[in-house]
Amino acid sequence: MDLKQYVTTVENWPKEGISFKDITTIMDNGPAYKYATDQIVEYAKEVGAEIIVGPEARGFIIGCPVAYALEIGFAPVRKPGKLPREVISANYGLEYGQDTLTMHNDAVKPGQKVLICDDLLATGGTVDATIRLIEKLGGQVVGCAFLIELTELKGREKIGNYPVKTLITY
Ligand code: IMP
Repeated sequence: MDLKQYVTTVENWPKEGISFKDITTIMDNGPAYKYATDQIVEYAKEVGAEIIVGPEARGFIIGCPVAYALEIGFAPVRKPGKLPREVISANYGLEYGQDTLTMHNDAVKPGQKVLICDDLLATGGTVDATIRLIEKLGGQVVGCAFLIELTELKGREKIGNYPVKTLITY
């Protein structure tokens, strides 16, 4: 299946000059959503994932069905103030300033093999912070899977040697 045809590009959103890739038109098409999920499930099996970690909010949309299909767990990565128990934090750079991601401090067990899932790899800042959170807990990142990769932004270079799987590239 050519998944790219289900992505909608929205020009100048959320601000002037941004060409936003909207994945809701993959999700609202049953066969396309299933196909995309199945591709990542296969990858998760290949890398031996024991738990899926996904950053809010679109990482939940990609990661949860993968976890369900494999009968493994899913752990959310969230903005500060959203998780109810004790968290660990990691900062990452934005175009202007910084942002923080958090995770429950027992969400991943030491030695556990983790696959990170998100909708899109751009500069790699989000996945880089997510990797740092997982490693702080002693988890082993065995792969990072995305529906879309914006290759010009060189996210792969930012994260270095971690295996990356993407289904659609621009
Ligand atoms: P990065 O941290 O620069 O790699 O940006 C990736 C994060 O920003 C992901 O969590 C995406 O959900 C979000 N993101 C950035 N650009 C887009 C886009 O064009 N469409 C959907 N999500 C995006």
